[in-house]
Amino acid sequence: MAYEYDPENVFAKILRGDLPCTKVHETEHTLAFNDINPVRPVHVLVIPKGPYVTYDDFTANASDAEIVDLFRVIGMLTRQLKVSAAGDGEGYRLITNAGEHGVQEVPHFHMHIIGGAGCGPMIKRDA
Ligand code: AMP
Repeated sequence: MAYEYDPENVFAKILRGDLPCTKVHETEHTLAFNDINPVRPVHVLVIPKGPYVTYDDFTANASDAEIVDLFRVIGMLTRQLKVSAAGDGEGYRLITNAGEHGVQEVPHFHMHIIGGAGCGPMIKRDA
């Protein structure tokens, strides 16, 4: 199934400069900014600048340069934000939500970097 990208989503507006963000890092292909509603002391969203809806859309349709750049930015930020478990932090969680079952709110692919405090169990089992 092909995804239809909605250019009116919140992150598209941030990329166009129509909405503000607290920028953490920017490259030719990638933007990182603070989540407006952080769930831990560190909560950064990392997004491609291109119009991709989910992880599977991004990895199927983005260029190698866009994909490598986004994942390298995430790695670099774990060190810069001092949450790298291999560096001077205590670890972090990467999350991407996709579609209805993933409970994705904003239909522009993004990775959450969450840390600065314990993240708890991965996901609760259904009762
Ligand atoms: P998701 O459920 O993975 O789509 O999560 C979307 C995330 O975007 C949530 O954590 C929101 O708090 C965050 N968010 C929504 N609007 C904004 C905004 N204008 N600036 C920064 N983060 C936002």
